[in-house]
Amino acid sequence: MKILMVTAEAVPYAKTGGLADSVASLARELQKGGDDVRLLLPLYRGMDELHRKNMYPLPHPLAIHLGREHWARVHELIEPSGLRVYFLEYQRYFDRARIYDDHDEGNGRRCAFADNPERFALLCRAALDLPGLTGWVPDIFHCHDWMAGLVPVFLETRDRNGPLRHSASVLTVHNLAHQGYADRSILAFAGLPSDLFRADRLEACGGVNFLKGGLYFANKLTTVSPTYAEEIRSAEFGCGLQDVLNFRGGDLLGIMNGIDGTSWDPASDPLIPHHYSRDRMEGKALCKKDFFHNHFPTSDIGSPLFVAISRLYAQKGLDVLADVLPKIFASMDVRVAILGAGDRNLEIKFCQLAAQYADRIHVTIGYDEGLAHRLEAAGDFFLMPSRFEPCGLNQLYSLRYGTLPIVRSTGGLRDSVLSYDERTGSGTGFVFHDLGNRALYDTIGWACHCYHNRPDHMDIMVRRAMEQDFGWTRSAARYRECYRWALESKGA
Ligand code: ADP
Repeated sequence: MKILMVTAEAVPYAKTGGLADSVASLARELQKGGDDVRLLLPLYRGMDELHRKNMYPLPHPLAIHLGREHWARVHELIEPSGLRVYFLEYQRYFDRARIYDDHDEGNGRRCAFADNPERFALLCRAALDLPGLTGWVPDIFHCHDWMAGLVPVFLETRDRNGPLRHSASVLTVHNLAHQGYADRSILAFAGLPSDLFRADRLEACGGVNFLKGGLYFANKLTTVSPTYAEEIRSAEFGCGLQDVLNFRGGDLLGIMNGIDGTSWDPASDPLIPHHYSRDRMEGKALCKKDFFHNHFPTSDIGSPLFVAISRLYAQKGLDVLADVLPKIFASMDVRVAILGAGDRNLEIKFCQLAAQYADRIHVTIGYDEGLAHRLEAAGDFFLMPSRFEPCGLNQLYSLRYGTLPIVRSTGGLRDSVLSYDERTGSGTGFVFHDLGNRALYDTIGWACHCYHNRPDHMDIMVRRAMEQDFGWTRSAARYRECYRWALESKGA
């Protein structure tokens, strides 16, 4: 099958979160299985020189047929595996250091770029105009999140009877909270018919909603875990789109994200100081020892280490952790390490905690791939008290690294972590339900109790966690099935 992935992010070229990991590893897995997969994403300013050196511009510029014609250059990079990546160069929109937002000089907060709808409408239209330039016509346009939400809209309206009439679209929702709102004038900008401005098409709250359009028009819909696929059909998690998701419920699948088992393997990870595996666990203890030596030099290595690596936004529930930590430090002998960036107030709160409890908590504000790996290897427990979590990757990395996840029972966390049963020692982590100070405090206490009093249970849980298979093979097979259904429903 010929599949074009349309995305704003893909590892290793551009990343703000799990979307980038998920798109790239799915593409590589499908390619490995024999499909002809290509990626289209914008060429951002921040892209590594190393990648730029390996790209070649296509001989002719691309005409992008929005309301008026725009001209862009497309660069092609062929990865060693044979995967082709197209980079859309349109400097006015993408020659920016960050992908979606910038710092507001006034208050230091991030502000989404005001022209995000135009930027990603251009990306979407480019996906449909690209086959005219390359001669390569995808069977499937696989669209990721709102940034690619207009692709199915174009395909089923303007391109319905054109050369792409046999191509189908699949839209994957990686996070329903981001939907892409625009003024209704975006329809004229995109060259889309104005009669799409209806509540049962693209209109929402008096504007145009890219994701809603994609949800209406894509041939099949997926999201990144089975539980999240259920949750988003309810008012609590539907972010206002539950009605369209129920309307399209028969076409909606939940397919769990996998992880890239090559970059995230404690037996060979070049970013961690000592390697280990299920049968040779000494390396994990040494990773913890190194971390303590560097950051908690006076602490007893016997204290459990709780780690968190995350965007610091309300979704992740770490504000609750910040609230509850003083009480935890007052009653439990634990060490905590946090790596993250995001909400300025939360960043400040964690820094204040680090100043106040310097021998108990280590905080790094920022994005640091190497430290993320070292923390996964050093930790005993991984904290992920998310309010909602479409899939979550960090709990999957944690399982692989034998760092038992402490998670709230939502979305992909619920689908991937089995709660500890103290009678039998079964489970792969600690699962709680309410998101409140009390529930998190109690669950951390429960984990500490198990750590100190049931080392036998800890031991089997760690090994069981490391045995879990969250590779891409199974999930890629489900996507293939989904592509076939999409083509069938298109009548191709
Ligand atoms: P989300 O996509 O909602 O941010 P996920 O758990 O699905 O959450 O994916 C987050 C990805 O980003 C993981 O690969 C994680 O390791 C990485 N990550 C998040 N914050 C940081 C950070 N501050 N430093 C390094 N990696 C980070």
